[in-house]
Amino acid sequence: MSSNDLQSKTAVLYSSDAPNEEQERRFRNFIKTRYGEDCDFRWERSDAFPGGFRLEVGQEVYDWSVGGRFQQLRDTLVKVPTRNGNIIPLIKETIRTWTPEALAQEIGVVTSVGDGIATVEGLENATYGEILVFKGGSRGMVQDIRQNEIGCILFDGDEEVSEGSSVHRTAKTAGVPVGNGFLGRVVDPLGVPIDGLGEIKEDGYYPVESQAPGIVQRQPVNTPLETGILSIDAMFPIGRGQRELIIGDRQTGKTAIALDAIINQKGKNCICVYVAIGQKTSAVVQIAETLKKHGSMEYTVIVDASASDSAPLQYIAPYAGCAMAEYFMHQGKDVLIVYDDLSKHAVAYRTMSLLLGRSPGREAFPGDVFYLHSRLLERAARMADEYGGGSITALPIVETQAGDVSAYIPTNIISITDGQIFLESELFFSGQRPAINVGISVSRVGGDAQTKAMKKAVGTLKLDLAQYREMEVFSQFASDLDEQTRKQLIYGQGLMRMLRQSQYHPYSHHQQVIMLVSAMAHVMVDVELDDVQTFIKGLLEKFETEYPEIGQEIDREKVLSDELKGKITEVAQEYAKDFLKRK
Ligand code: ATP
Ligand code: MG
Repeated sequence: MSSNDLQSKTAVLYSSDAPNEEQERRFRNFIKTRYGEDCDFRWERSDAFPGGFRLEVGQEVYDWSVGGRFQQLRDTLVKVPTRNGNIIPLIKETIRTWTPEALAQEIGVVTSVGDGIATVEGLENATYGEILVFKGGSRGMVQDIRQNEIGCILFDGDEEVSEGSSVHRTAKTAGVPVGNGFLGRVVDPLGVPIDGLGEIKEDGYYPVESQAPGIVQRQPVNTPLETGILSIDAMFPIGRGQRELIIGDRQTGKTAIALDAIINQKGKNCICVYVAIGQKTSAVVQIAETLKKHGSMEYTVIVDASASDSAPLQYIAPYAGCAMAEYFMHQGKDVLIVYDDLSKHAVAYRTMSLLLGRSPGREAFPGDVFYLHSRLLERAARMADEYGGGSITALPIVETQAGDVSAYIPTNIISITDGQIFLESELFFSGQRPAINVGISVSRVGGDAQTKAMKKAVGTLKLDLAQYREMEVFSQFASDLDEQTRKQLIYGQGLMRMLRQSQYHPYSHHQQVIMLVSAMAHVMVDVELDDVQTFIKGLLEKFETEYPEIGQEIDREKVLSDELKGKITEVAQEYAKDFLKRK
């Protein structure tokens, strides 16, 4: 079809034989009623449609070829639900009742292609987010609708698509396969396995972009999601359905916190989704290995859009991961999703937007970069019991440059999330790991989700640490300080040592309570700083072997009676005495 035909609307009929008079009259009638008087009609010989014809009017195509009719039959079959897998009678029934009709299909033309983006003309009715199929079968998604053309991102790379090739609409939005089969697997953002373990049987398809649950469908965050990291669970508790940002410079242990949180979900009925965006493939392989080693892969899905993947793929990765998480949430399950990291995601989106010709704003990001992340993180939720009671807890990660939290993307995401855990290079290098800055980290909703036992055990920890930080500057003059201040300093230093925790060593709920009760009772003040970790290890062992009922009671009752608190303090003091004597 020439471009002239497109403009003046000429209906072109392709068939191997010319239509007879009667047939032509019927075609002309049909075209007149549908496209008006000024639509011309002509016939062109084509042997591509044996036993049928194809009518093209502008972008609409009526496919009456054998292939086209077969496609219709298949579409009809798909629409009829199968009962008990009773497929044969169903096919018979479908064939009996099937009435062929010519379906109009919109066809467009690629006008330019490159860098994972194609510009398409002629698809007047395409909608935002719709999937388009290019000649040759590769797929793209509508991202930009302009006056006369459409900007489309390509998922399968741009090698397969060339200028001038045809595109057709699917009237479907992008979706990913979801299902239990994805647990333990590493997939790309389109749900295709990349771990070489064979195909995955999906249980259904979920749209990549979906509306976040509304107020009625939600309930308040009230159940803890324990990370096993003492400083987080004690001071910045995370609840199921919460969004807690992990933010810090490069190499400050951001991924380590997320991985520990995943590892700690073992046996806790929580499914995990780890979305890697723009990371090195080797790093993702390492993460999968680590999770496998700790027996955590079996309840985890890894979605990987690595640094070498196209910007469009990196862009949809978190949405695809979220869709997979939603599948589990809708079954009433609790899900933890990690986006590692959203800074790289924003950069991929910037690349894509600039290629699409959108005007750049602050830091060259497009104007809608806030919405990019707000619509993603809003999908984290704790569903009301009537809606299944499942939850998605999100741990987005953001990388800062030289600790600058006031840059564009960090401020945006801080304002979207329910709190942030701030990691600092200085702390990290001084050996304080996890390098959490206790002063400016916060969790805005998790407090309601903390167990009563934990709340009571934590006591004034945050306040004590704040006081310690104020006094810390004087610590170099320790010899000149009065006794009271010196004691405060030593106590604070001890607390900081206690919060140090090596990777892959999550503490259980009752262990954390025991440590906190002991520390707040000042039992560790006489222990040398370098011995604090050994002391804690021995203390916990003593409780585990000699007083297992204490731990059991804390985990069962989730409250801490004064009596139990007294008992813990007593045992801890006794242990401290022995410990110091042995030294
Ligand atoms: P990147 O910016 O490269 O993504 P990151 O902030 O995610 O880095 P990690 O990769 O998690 O940082 O950690 C950096 C290094 O610090 C790793 O080698 C990790 O093993 C180590 N590390 C992290 N947390 C701890 C910890 N609690 N104890 C000891 N080492 C740790
Ligand atoms: Mg990392």
